[in-house]
Amino acid sequence: MGMSGRPQSASGQAALLTGKNVPELIGEHYGPRPNPAIREIIAQDNLFKRVVAHGGTAALLEAYPPRFHQAINSGKRLASSYQQAVLEAGLPLFSEEKIYSGEALSGDWTGAGWRSELGYTDTPVYTPVEAGKRMVALSRQYDFAFFSHWMTDVIGHRGTVAEGASLLELFDGVMAGALEEWDDDEGLIVITSDHGNLEDLSHTKHTENDVPTVIIGTGRESIASNLNTLTDIAPGIENYLYNTGFRNEAAHG
Ligand SMILES: [Zn+2]
Repeated sequence: MGMSGRPQSASGQAALLTGKNVPELIGEHYGPRPNPAIREIIAQDNLFKRVVAHGGTAALLEAYPPRFHQAINSGKRLASSYQQAVLEAGLPLFSEEKIYSGEALSGDWTGAGWRSELGYTDTPVYTPVEAGKRMVALSRQYDFAFFSHWMTDVIGHRGTVAEGASLLELFDGVMAGALEEWDDDEGLIVITSDHGNLEDLSHTKHTENDVPTVIIGTGRESIASNLNTLTDIAPGIENYLYNTGFRNEAAHG
């Protein structure tokens, strides 16, 4: 991004979702939660807002427990940049009822954490393969669906190599399910990150490594051929949606 220092989550996510070089605009890499300058950039314009303004449908496929919503609503906790982008588009952050109904997923994909970490006893728990299939199925209800597997950052900061390996095994299972369900002609899957972290567990900080991006689906070259930095992701997705005419009919009832 042309700025010295280690990349941070708030400015990185904002760059991903606005297409703007947010670290450069604010003069630093900043995170984990967005400062007022980043929130202003996200409020002005972001991919969720653009999709909605175009008449498209968009969603963040994760759901959060009541304590999270209480903390956000009371101002005790700041939304992450990607959550703020959703809110600025007038879209909801999903709640526990969508976990129960299967209309949203837990950040850990399988939902195991809602039982082990949050104390629920009756929420759904999926195998990684089932979760991957469900994520693709849920994405069909929207023109643009977003999912953040933030646990890679948690383990990247404080986890062991064994925990990192098990997270990659989880990811592998989710991707197996996702690709089993996925039809290459139905759109694009874009897998990327706001910064590196998990790939180097010898220290607790983010890395300065390049972020890999995987794009799956017919028409992937339309994004891949112009992809150099995080700021190319949002315009690439937007152009793809415009060029395909928001053709996801299931997303428009
Ligand atoms: Zn981090």
